[in-house]
Amino acid sequence: TTARIGLAGLGTMGSALALNIAEKGFPVAVWNRNTAHITEVIEEAGPLRDALVPSETLEELVAAIAPPRAIIIMVKAGAPVFETIEKLVPLLDEGDTLIDAGNADFNDTRATEKRLREKGIHFIGMGVSGGEDGARHGPSIMVGGDASAYEPIRDIIEAIAATYEGDPCAARLGPDGAGHFVKTVHNGIEYADMELIAEAYGLMRKGQGKSPAEIAEVFGRWNGGRLQSYLCEITEKVLSATDPETGKPAVDVIVDEAGQKGTGRWTLIEALKLGQSASTIEAAVAARSWSAMSGLRGEGSKVFGEADGPAPTLPEDDLGRALLAARILAYGQGFLLLKAASDEFGWDIDLARVAEIWRAGCIIRSSLLDDIAAAIRDGLPEGALHLAPAFREPLVNGAPALRQVVTQSVAAGLPATGFASALSYFDSMRQARGTADLIQGLRDFFGRHGFERVGAEGVHHGPWWD
Ligand code: NDP
Repeated sequence: TTARIGLAGLGTMGSALALNIAEKGFPVAVWNRNTAHITEVIEEAGPLRDALVPSETLEELVAAIAPPRAIIIMVKAGAPVFETIEKLVPLLDEGDTLIDAGNADFNDTRATEKRLREKGIHFIGMGVSGGEDGARHGPSIMVGGDASAYEPIRDIIEAIAATYEGDPCAARLGPDGAGHFVKTVHNGIEYADMELIAEAYGLMRKGQGKSPAEIAEVFGRWNGGRLQSYLCEITEKVLSATDPETGKPAVDVIVDEAGQKGTGRWTLIEALKLGQSASTIEAAVAARSWSAMSGLRGEGSKVFGEADGPAPTLPEDDLGRALLAARILAYGQGFLLLKAASDEFGWDIDLARVAEIWRAGCIIRSSLLDDIAAAIRDGLPEGALHLAPAFREPLVNGAPALRQVVTQSVAAGLPATGFASALSYFDSMRQARGTADLIQGLRDFFGRHGFERVGAEGVHHGPWWD
């Protein structure tokens, strides 16, 4: 068989993608560094094995694909990707395409694209979201690269992607690093969404003494309404699971230290570089970092004691309204960041398309994203999601509840880093006149930086310089 496409790296994501491609009827040549794993994947492929072309070496992989070749690289992010690219490039011809489908820093993607372009080789940075199950049965796919390189493989990518009401959740969003950047921000939003969910759990568990099973039911009810999302759905599942060894709620036997592979941090770094602040994502990254400091937290609880204020009295519906409001604000920050990067790098990203391809397949899939896509298509006032007419009602109704979540958490001594960040952002964004007048006055006082004067042109100084 001559393969339509190649795939290097048969780990969790790579093998799932290979089977997905084979299932859609495209012969795919597969390679893995540890060749024993190739045999395993082929053996477990059942009837799909006819569409898999096992390749023990990269030379075999390249030879098995019909030119111009396209090869997806799905190995551990960072150095393993660079190594694999270095080994493949000398084996390729001009016009061939390499696709990095892992979670890459988009700065690396831009640099590699530029370097390979000089050799006549196309480079696509492709973000894939949906975990293992998504990769196997339909992920959301965010493509960055030359349209001329994407067109020949578009049929494969759209065939393996998830669909939302028949629309494939895959799109070329712009050149070079655009796809990996969008995937990074997707993950940043995922961090924020998960942090808000965890804080809502904390308020009910620690603040109101509800059991994991009771809280699971709350998430189940929320998932049946406007908070419908994959993350709420799996929160219900995780919270209702029992540990077979101890009979305890499964969540109680899990060490409370969150892992992170870097995409949340990258989102923040890029936000700051672009003069933005995705404060809800920042809060989520901070909370994960603090979670890892369990020694410090243990000492703190001994010295200062744990939460001892009045228990939050907030009813479930209000907490749900607050979660929806905070979620809208967090997604809004993510989309502002995408807009800023698109402008900075000249990507011309269709932001409504981004929301559309996040409606299915990816971890943050939700009914909210359908509303977001529609709101962006209608045109966002000032580019801000929270100003869209469609979100007026949930924010007007949700903001008082959000304020209650924050004040009651603060009073109880429970951390609500994500909720508080969302609320502060909301409150900052409705001050027609803020307090930066004083900041400018101080800057002028100590550094003669000058300021703009209300109703006047040019640079002005304060009377302290007279
Ligand atoms: P795994 O750990 O399951 O697999 C890693 C793969 O990388 C293996 O095939 C391994 O080969 C290969 N590899 C490691 N080092 C090298 C090297 N130096 N040279 C060649 N191959 C190497 O990873 P995942 O499948 O989970 O992740 C792959 C990518 O997908 C990452 O970028 C990850 O961030 C991203 N991703 C993962 C998701 C997930 O839910 N797991 C979701 C979305 C993206 P060998 O068998 O020889 O060790």
